Amino acid sequence: MIQYVHMFSEGDRDQKDLLGGKGANLAEMVKLGLPVPPGFTITTEACRAYLTEGRVPPQVRVEVTQRLRNVEDLIGRTLGDYEEPLLLSVRSGAKFSMPGMMETVLNVGLNDDTVHALASFAGDERFAWDSYRRLIQMFGKTVLDIDADKFSSVLDAHKESAGVTADVDLTADDLKQVVAEFKQIVERETGHPFPQTPRRQVDMAIEAVFRSWNTERAQLYRRRERIADDLGTAVNVQAMVFGNLGETSGTGVCFTRDPSSGHIGEYGDYLPNAQGEDVVAGIRNTLSLADLKQRDAGAYRELRAAMRSLETHYRDLCDIEFTIERGRLWMLQTRVGKRTAGAAFRIATQLVDEQLITMDEALERVTGEQLSQLLFPQFDRSADRTLLATGMGASPGAAVGAVAFDNASAEAAAASGKSVILVRRETSPEDLPGMVAAAGILTARGGKTSHAAVVARGMGKCAVVGAEDLVVDVAAKQIRVGEHVVHEGDTLAIDGKTGEVYLGDVRVVDSPVMTYVSEGLEAAEAHADGDDETKQLIRAVDRVLTHADKRRRLRVRANADTGTDARRARDRGAEGIGLCRTEHQFLGERRQQIERVVLADTDEQREAALAELLPAQIEDFVDLLTAMDGLPATIRLIDPPLHEFLPDLTDLTVEVALAEAKGETGPEVDRTRALRDAVRAIHEQNPMLGLRGVRLGLKIPGLFALQIRAIAEAVVRLRAEGKDPRPEIMVPLVGSNRELVIVRRQAEGIIAEISRTNDQELEIPIGCMIELPRAALTANRIAQTAEFFSFGTNDLTQTTWGFSRDDVETAFFPQYMQNGVLTISPFETLDALGVGELVRIGVEKGRETRPDLKIGVCGEHGGDPESIHFFHRVGLDYVSCSPFRVPVARLEAGRAVVLKEGVGTS
Ligand code: ADP
Ligand code: MG
Ligand code: MG
Repeated sequence: MIQYVHMFSEGDRDQKDLLGGKGANLAEMVKLGLPVPPGFTITTEACRAYLTEGRVPPQVRVEVTQRLRNVEDLIGRTLGDYEEPLLLSVRSGAKFSMPGMMETVLNVGLNDDTVHALASFAGDERFAWDSYRRLIQMFGKTVLDIDADKFSSVLDAHKESAGVTADVDLTADDLKQVVAEFKQIVERETGHPFPQTPRRQVDMAIEAVFRSWNTERAQLYRRRERIADDLGTAVNVQAMVFGNLGETSGTGVCFTRDPSSGHIGEYGDYLPNAQGEDVVAGIRNTLSLADLKQRDAGAYRELRAAMRSLETHYRDLCDIEFTIERGRLWMLQTRVGKRTAGAAFRIATQLVDEQLITMDEALERVTGEQLSQLLFPQFDRSADRTLLATGMGASPGAAVGAVAFDNASAEAAAASGKSVILVRRETSPEDLPGMVAAAGILTARGGKTSHAAVVARGMGKCAVVGAEDLVVDVAAKQIRVGEHVVHEGDTLAIDGKTGEVYLGDVRVVDSPVMTYVSEGLEAAEAHADGDDETKQLIRAVDRVLTHADKRRRLRVRANADTGTDARRARDRGAEGIGLCRTEHQFLGERRQQIERVVLADTDEQREAALAELLPAQIEDFVDLLTAMDGLPATIRLIDPPLHEFLPDLTDLTVEVALAEAKGETGPEVDRTRALRDAVRAIHEQNPMLGLRGVRLGLKIPGLFALQIRAIAEAVVRLRAEGKDPRPEIMVPLVGSNRELVIVRRQAEGIIAEISRTNDQELEIPIGCMIELPRAALTANRIAQTAEFFSFGTNDLTQTTWGFSRDDVETAFFPQYMQNGVLTISPFETLDALGVGELVRIGVEKGRETRPDLKIGVCGEHGGDPESIHFFHRVGLDYVSCSPFRVPVARLEAGRAVVLKEGVGTS
């Protein structure tokens, strides 16, 4: 029989799927012997059953009763008891922490009777009524869905009439009155009195957690983070401990290392006489852990010991929530803490130096996504700029954009293509859509653990929080800072690393990590010029990236069309060119010659027109192959349909019509007319599926011949200079082996001829793109002729799905994401199930024929982390991506190896 409910003492951290992240880590802390209030976890499996059956399985109620009794026995108090009542917290906890899930309800079990018992038992009447009002408030908001403002305005009114500003200054009598009014709110809003039966409170809260899995906010977050919709959430039910039992009690959060720099040490906030989220909600000023040490050395020492033991155990930065009840420490949550991209690299190498993890594990702990964040440009330090305010740098990056104060205007501005800075006093989960739309987030309140900071770090978005000088007036849509007033739509620039906020536009420059990947360690260190933090970051990235290079099996090439691109790619570690598009060689001034090729009446005329293109093409290839000297460079023969190089049909038609209307004649008009007819003749309904690639090469044989000749001549020229050019000729859009046979025969003829005239042995490999399903399915035949394959996964995605990227991405992808047909664009991450299957088949069949067939991929997927892991698994030899992504691909290719080998346990 399935067990739906587990005591904390039964689980461990490896059971995140079943117990959720929070539950699994609570269980792990129990295993470690840390002081955790006893409790149990209702599994994600129970949630899944609830979601399919539409009700909580009856067996869950039975098991809850059993585990509840176990908890009661452990503590020696019972739920609803008139003398010593047990109180509980009910907490959601999915596998991945997720905004939008039901917030924790504390003090479950209090009612009109037990509140008195709690008062006399704790010897503190004020505390008991404070706890009761919190229960009704939280339960009302999260379980009964009552507008939270209804409760807080009552609380505010009482504070005002009592003449106090903080909630802690309300007396027991004030709070009794608050409770009475809260109960009225519940009755008014739901038509039922506040539930008085403790067990009913528990059951209602559990069901509400299950229900919250499908709130709009949770769904939005899951789509964004690509978390599966059918995981479900677990529920943790736990005995309460009290941070609001006076001045010797309190609640706090802390990190075992600085999550933004990686510095070893303790970072945390503590709030005396407080409960739950008070500490992060910014209701009162928090204290530091050093202050806690002053107030309560014993509890502090215990906390230090717990932090150390968690770091030793998890071998990573831990994020901790704790409560101190009358001098006694209780651990309420831990998890491996979120961190900035820079901190990820630094913490990983610091842990290696402390011999807590291996280099392989360090590689596991950073991602290509994080590396790409470090490559983002930053503000130019020497630029002229007006500093408006300084807050806390909570998530790095530089963002310049128009100010928006709410979701609607942020989304509208983003939709119209504007970069947006979302400005709030502080953020809450309601602000998620605006945060998604924004390029950067700026708040006036809150610290490194505030909602804005945590969520922005998770999204990899630049954020500045707690810029206290900003007076944010959301209603009036303006920010006041001293004499400055900033209105909606005005431009601000925020630096998520330094926390600086500038008025207007600020110039951005290369990041130090970008300088490192393009100019090397020494140059980057020199550039960092005494900035120790930056140096440490660069060194950390260098160590991890170097290790990735050592471990990876996949080679990394770049897509580069010109010598300049090729040099840039090579600087960043590219080991060749995987795709050189030759289309640009037919544009600009050379367009005229292409026109003449198209308009030629005879073969001789055409040959002559093509011959004119040859010298310039040789120069192009010389430039490219010089930049890639000694490394392979795959050159793709011309791919797009010819009309892309010719004037627009409508323009030509209009031009001719106008000339005819005016009665103009002469050679110029004749030429335009002939061009119009030629363009009309090659006009296509679906150019993407029309006369392009190898089809064009076969239809106008001189075109490919010209390119092949230019490549071979460039090789001869460079060899004469003592260089080592290594071009590879790639034929696009092949669907049948026969097509390739024809091109190959032609190419071999040309190469042989040039070999002969120059008395040189020229060996230029000839291969093809695999970008049509038919090519993948007949790869065994194509491999008879092709010496290498390169998967063109863009076209392969288009032809497999039967849609064209330009048409569909804006037309219906957003909708498809919404209904979950797609979780991410298949043009961003390879659709492993469909397109990936064709890749797998292509690799397998190709190597059946030619076991040593060299296979790569070109196209954007070559730089996408998840896709790279897939390409590693199916056995490709290399990926090719844009020069910017080369370092990311190197890192992920290394990660693909260590993750596959399953080294480490994190
Ligand atoms: P979140 O997922 O938002 O971190 P938690 O479930 O951790 O929510 O609960 C929020 C806060 O509620 C905790 O940090 C802690 O302060 C408080 N809390 C939760 N359970 C208990 C408990 N058993 N006793 C006292 N406080 C608790
Ligand atoms: Mg919370
Ligand atoms: Mg928590």
